[in-house]
Amino acid sequence: MQTERAFKYRFYPTPEQEALLARTFGCVRFVWNAVLRYRTDAFYERQEKIGYNDASAFLTQLKKQPDTAFLAEVSSVPLQQCLRHQQSAFKNFLAKRAKYPRFKSKKQRQSATFASSAFSYRNGQITLAKCSEPLNIRWSRELPSAPSTVVVSKDRAGRHFISCLCKVETEALPITPKMVGIDLGLKDLLVTSDGTKVNNPRHTARYARKLARAQRQLSRKQKGSNNRAKAKQKVARCHAKIADTRLDHLHKLTRQIVNENQVICLESLAVKNMVRNRHLAKAISDAGWGELARQLHYKAEWAGRQCVQIDRWYPSSKRCHDCGYVLESLPLDVRTWGCPGCGAQGVDRDVNAARNILQAGTALLAGAGY
Ligand SMILES: [Zn+2]
Repeated sequence: MQTERAFKYRFYPTPEQEALLARTFGCVRFVWNAVLRYRTDAFYERQEKIGYNDASAFLTQLKKQPDTAFLAEVSSVPLQQCLRHQQSAFKNFLAKRAKYPRFKSKKQRQSATFASSAFSYRNGQITLAKCSEPLNIRWSRELPSAPSTVVVSKDRAGRHFISCLCKVETEALPITPKMVGIDLGLKDLLVTSDGTKVNNPRHTARYARKLARAQRQLSRKQKGSNNRAKAKQKVARCHAKIADTRLDHLHKLTRQIVNENQVICLESLAVKNMVRNRHLAKAISDAGWGELARQLHYKAEWAGRQCVQIDRWYPSSKRCHDCGYVLESLPLDVRTWGCPGCGAQGVDRDVNAARNILQAGTALLAGAGY
């Protein structure tokens, strides 16, 4: 099966490249916001829908006006790509899959998309349009083919990245009889139906002191000063470090789960959210349940394996996996329980839940319902 995959690398721009990229990011943001305003006004004032062609004509007009003529100084491709992104953002909004598109701010991560006409890939090097030198990319792994599109970005910590979209041939892993149910949690990030428990590393807590110190230093700096900008970067770098560590840990974990199992069953996050409360929300986002599920899905698909998410709520924790007896209640702090139905003692709350999830998932696969 052929799929398109993104390969992301860090790169170090020359001062000239950095300046050009900063201008490009600024123009992309300007176009996004101007077209979004144009669309919003047309909708509210005249109930008009602005399509891609109208938006494109609007951009052409902007480039001709003296006070926005600076838009012609950067490659036109990222600006066109930005219109395409907004078009699909509206499509998702109209299909009720997403919220109304938002204005972009300078403080967010900046990015620009270069289609194949706006960069060259030669001798293993990428050169962007209007640049004289290739980008100094840290190739942590080889590209499998020439990229069709590249996305250049700068995160809030000031680091530059390039993400290259390439066609790859994915190879299905050999079929294995192993299947697993996974219960996502906070104390343990996950517990599997075969009894494995993976500790939740609590990335934020690990960096909490460092982060608190950086934030304290930032609060003491004068607004608008150079030192404040530096302190801000330090805070952003700390956040970036936390995000990187979390992602790295999740990648290793999901790779192992997909390598070992043919079928992976878990509850949908909508179901998990039913038991979420405000106080746990931060811990949940820190654990990265959503990212974990996303990685399991695409890695399973590439490997020719299956990831099943159970959409309907059912009492996975309160139901005894052995006899089907359903407890009336099971407080969160009760880790093991005795089953009044079959007399089993020391039933581990999470392992029992994971075994129920596996059973429900395989039933779903077999089309039997649950
Ligand atoms: Zn029982």
